[in-house]
Amino acid sequence: MDKSIENKLLKADAAFEQWKKVPFAEKQKLIAKAAAFLRENAEELGTIITKEMNKPISQSVSEIEKCALMMTYYAEAENVLQPEKIQSEYHFSEIHYVPKGVILGIMPWNFPFWQVLRFAVPAILAGNTVVLKHASICFGSGNTLEKIFTDVGFPEGIFQNLEVGHKDVKEILEHETIKAVSLTGSEKAGAEVASIAGKKIKKSLLELGGSDAFIVLDDADLDEAAKVGALARLQNCGQTCVAAKRFIIQEHIEADFLPKFIAEYQKYIPADPMKKETKIAGMARPDLADDLEKQYHRALENGAEVIIALERMSDTEFKPGLIKVEEGNPILKEELFGPLGMVLIAKDDAEALEIANNVPFGLSNAVWTKDPERQQFFINGLESGTVNINRMTSSDPRFPFGGTKSSGYGTELSLLALKEFVTPKTIIGN
Ligand code: NDP
Repeated sequence: MDKSIENKLLKADAAFEQWKKVPFAEKQKLIAKAAAFLRENAEELGTIITKEMNKPISQSVSEIEKCALMMTYYAEAENVLQPEKIQSEYHFSEIHYVPKGVILGIMPWNFPFWQVLRFAVPAILAGNTVVLKHASICFGSGNTLEKIFTDVGFPEGIFQNLEVGHKDVKEILEHETIKAVSLTGSEKAGAEVASIAGKKIKKSLLELGGSDAFIVLDDADLDEAAKVGALARLQNCGQTCVAAKRFIIQEHIEADFLPKFIAEYQKYIPADPMKKETKIAGMARPDLADDLEKQYHRALENGAEVIIALERMSDTEFKPGLIKVEEGNPILKEELFGPLGMVLIAKDDAEALEIANNVPFGLSNAVWTKDPERQQFFINGLESGTVNINRMTSSDPRFPFGGTKSSGYGTELSLLALKEFVTPKTIIGN
């Protein structure tokens, strides 16, 4: 291993020995400072994101503001890691929550600040230190984050960015200083990282892909569903794990809903990401655009019909596409990570639920119906980490975030995330 990388791991390990002793409330004060810094510098930090991965600037700035909101949530959170006394027949019995040490974060390019901080902030507040392996196109964001942590007063070594490619991950993860790993990204990367962690008996948390359903039933507000549905698919150029990717429409409203949906969809025209009014720009990398185009053609070869053609405008830009797909098309087993949506038709609620669950993923589904009984049917039946009723998915620091099936395991956000990288230590005394 490169000596400078190993030195960073050793530094994180040494910092942990002190950091774990810092009171929870003191750590929260530093997190509050970092939140304030993000809020005050949202425009400038947003520009880094846009330059790295083409996200429209208004969405980049919103990403920074959302990070500040999440950090404020943790800066004010109840300390759920205090020793807990348990009533028992023993003289005393308690649970202590012991931080694990240095945690490796392997993060993607789609939300270069949010994905990192969503993992790192609760891990650090719990007493761990963090080393980051960011996506190779996001080293600017990684280095900026490291600087923010030290500039607002975190001790050196609490948060460090490692400028390494994914080929270096194995050696880093196997290093004795690393105690656990959190990865957000593709299934392929997740499976490889989790198997390395497993061999070394190190904990892993995986936040992987999704193919979320957006189910529109016949009593839904169709205008609102059409507008929100287009945003749910096309925000961040469709490169969001919890984007709506499959629109499951009840059969007899197809003729009413589809024209509304198409009209909303066609409002997303690729433009300059630095302009404030831009709603959609290019994808993050040309090879990702190539992959999406191949998936589009494969879907059509397997019987999908074009509703709106996916039109390549440049190496990274598309006019967004929409295809009608039937069960059995192999594309339904894949994630479409870009501006291409799928429409499926269901005859009734039972069939809509069956279609929704018939994918390898389970992140965050949405259902549009005003009827409480129908809502309950989907709340109970949908296999996903989150169910949204009459809204699109957007994560909220107060609520747990995570998936089931091939979407991964482990919990981010909420007070539960504070307990992901700690060991509950049982103390029993007579
Ligand atoms: P990857 O999963 O390859 O990249 C995400 C992160 O994992 C990056 O830091 C990457 O590093 C790292 N990584 C990749 N392969 C390995 C590996 N074998 N061992 C350790 N770390 C690894 O995503 P891509 O950028 O290639 O995008 C491909 C697809 O992944 C997308 O089309 C989408 O379907 C899915 N994806 C899902 C995301 C989500 O939010 N759930 C986010 C990003 C992608 P490096 O940059 O050096 O390769």
